[in-house]
Amino acid sequence: MTDAAERKMRFLYAIRSKGVTDARVLTAMERIDRGEFVRGLFAERAYDDTPLPIACGQTISQPSVVGLMTQSLDLTPRDKVLEIGTGSGYQAAILSLLARRVYTIDRHRRLVREAEELFARLGLTNITAIVGDGSRGLPEQAPFDRIIVTAAAEDPPGPLLAQLRIGGIMVLPVGQSDAVQSLIKVTRTEAGYDYEELRAVRFVPLVEGLAED
Ligand code: SAH
Repeated sequence: MTDAAERKMRFLYAIRSKGVTDARVLTAMERIDRGEFVRGLFAERAYDDTPLPIACGQTISQPSVVGLMTQSLDLTPRDKVLEIGTGSGYQAAILSLLARRVYTIDRHRRLVREAEELFARLGLTNITAIVGDGSRGLPEQAPFDRIIVTAAAEDPPGPLLAQLRIGGIMVLPVGQSDAVQSLIKVTRTEAGYDYEELRAVRFVPLVEGLAED
């Protein structure tokens, strides 16, 4: 086996052992090379199951958490998905293999620009990356079948709840930014919203407004 193949096998094994068992999610994570999304000093740790620093003081999430969040979304190939927090673009790339269309928003222009370049290079043509304040959602494309937020708010932002289709699912971390947060799954029903707590997580905070860079 080549080094690259062995590295990938170990990567997938680590993710599976943390509870990512959905075959479609594992296949998507096999196809999207995390090494493309981590640059510079930390590139050699791209296949470790750990969050890593990216530009603009942000982080690329831990692969097993990316897998668990993706799995909890229970995607179908027809879904239109909204992601808040493009960051490196890694989560959006995985979503793009499992859904029809992905809209991803970040408040840092630089992150959006770099992610767009990567999506183009990798031939991921069903992702639209947008600079904006994701806490407002994307009303012009609503409603969404699925919404994923990869930065922590104290509570689920109202505009995002409103932009979720009935029957739709939203997965997001909630809680204080400097404490342990809970990953929750919100399902919109005819009658309202059902909430399920999935596990403890730690994400960078959801910050209102656009960033300087
Ligand atoms: N999903 C990313 C990791 C995201 S880190 C990945 O796969 O790499 C969280 C991201 O949320 C950061 O890039 C940060 O800039 C962004 N963010 C924080 N608050 C935001 C807001 N209000 N609107 C849009 N993006 C936001």
